[in-house]
Amino acid sequence: MKLLLTTLNSKYVHSNLALKYLYASAESSRRNIDIQEFTINNDDDYILTELLRKDYDLICFSCYIWNVEKTLYLAETLKKAKPDQKILFGGPEVSYDVVPFMGQHKFVDFVISGEGEGPFSEFAESMISGTPELERIRGLTYRIDGKIFVNPPAPPLVFESVPFPYLSLVCEDDKVMYYESSRGCPFQCSYCLSSIERKVRTLPMERVRSDLSYFIYKQVKQVKFIDRTFNWDRRRCAEILQYLILSDNGVTNFHFELCGDLVDEELIRLLAQARPGLFQFEIGVQSTHEKTLAACNRNSNFPRLAENVKRLKALGNIHLHLDLIAGLPYEDYASFRSSFNDVYQLKAHQLQLGFLKLIKGAPIREQAEEHGYIYRSKAPYEIISNNYMTALDLVRLKKMENLLDLYYNRGGFRRTLDFCMDSLELAPFDFYEEFADYYYLKGFQHKSHKKEDLYRIFLLYAGWKERFIPDIKNTMQELLTLDMKETLNPDAVKKFERKGWEIL
Ligand code: SF4
Repeated sequence: MKLLLTTLNSKYVHSNLALKYLYASAESSRRNIDIQEFTINNDDDYILTELLRKDYDLICFSCYIWNVEKTLYLAETLKKAKPDQKILFGGPEVSYDVVPFMGQHKFVDFVISGEGEGPFSEFAESMISGTPELERIRGLTYRIDGKIFVNPPAPPLVFESVPFPYLSLVCEDDKVMYYESSRGCPFQCSYCLSSIERKVRTLPMERVRSDLSYFIYKQVKQVKFIDRTFNWDRRRCAEILQYLILSDNGVTNFHFELCGDLVDEELIRLLAQARPGLFQFEIGVQSTHEKTLAACNRNSNFPRLAENVKRLKALGNIHLHLDLIAGLPYEDYASFRSSFNDVYQLKAHQLQLGFLKLIKGAPIREQAEEHGYIYRSKAPYEIISNNYMTALDLVRLKKMENLLDLYYNRGGFRRTLDFCMDSLELAPFDFYEEFADYYYLKGFQHKSHKKEDLYRIFLLYAGWKERFIPDIKNTMQELLTLDMKETLNPDAVKKFERKGWEIL
């Protein structure tokens, strides 16, 4: 029997850690198992040909909000092409409401709910044996002669029993390497699936050091820790960071999700010793509105978090990424404006404006009626409106998000943006809102623009702005030129100078 573990990642540089865990855990079945990863941007024909040509007996799909719709379509097509093809689904997107899910999708033969390592290992072994005893596999739901059977859930895994997955696979060093030193989160944010599992399981420090030494030895470009709140245990966090500082190979970058409130003096002192570029931190702020944070069960203190972010920023060696979520309970357009302004003034390297997703299994989905949530019926179940924001409010924020990504997050406009914040007499939110209105009114959203054109569009906005602030266009042109020379390569700058500021 031949099995394939597969998924659709959202980008080529991403890789799927869950598949690697499943493969590594099913040690006795590995010679019968292949792994092949695709992206959601791959052509359907390409994926179907790859899946069919090797004639697998069983194909196992790992499903998430970003890939489940396309995965369902591919699996259904596979079953039509090869009716005896066995299909298994697993992952967070299919771990809830399993029976209705299987009732609706008759081409799915098996679903593994919850943590997959233990159940998949037993399942693969049982299938390969030729006499599967499906009723014994906890966490498995299966279909026999059209009837659905649900086994009891699998017990929580002993986390350290999961092998380090990269040792049994070829190292894909052109991709982001994902790593998990702890599983679960001690916090209970209502919009997050991790809030369900309150107990945090950790790998022993010795194991973590040994795993990390592999990435350091291989000189991979980036390792992303998927630990949900890396600094929930400050001592453990400091121990791992110290190990990475001492073992730094001068190349590898490590990314972590931190709780901003828990950053302390000791951590700051330790981080001051890190090579610039060694660490990248993502800190979820989500909102600065107290009523909103309380309604989401987030016990966050924004003044303390802001102070900590400023101290991290002042070190000058850490790349900082902050997140905001639009659409949380009690957050209306005005209060989101204030959250945005509060967070923007911290001047992180990246500011992500995300939109609430009412994901299956997250507690906030149970409160949809209370807050009047209307959300998309298909994954990723993004908010359309609620009692506090209309659909049009959220569309205005989508426009701003686009401009924020193009001009702030992708970089290359630092001087000009700083000037706008100081001289346009607009709060950051109002500037991005106005610039976005201008951009969409002129129709620039209808095509994708090269970086060079973004400078030209910015100058057009400056020209429009000159009606209200005399002589601003010349100043902004000088700043845009400086920003461009710092960002584009010399050939691109020469080409720009030949073509001029006119956008064609
Ligand atoms: S949002 Fe972050 S802190 Fe909150 S429960 Fe999820 S992982 Fe934990």
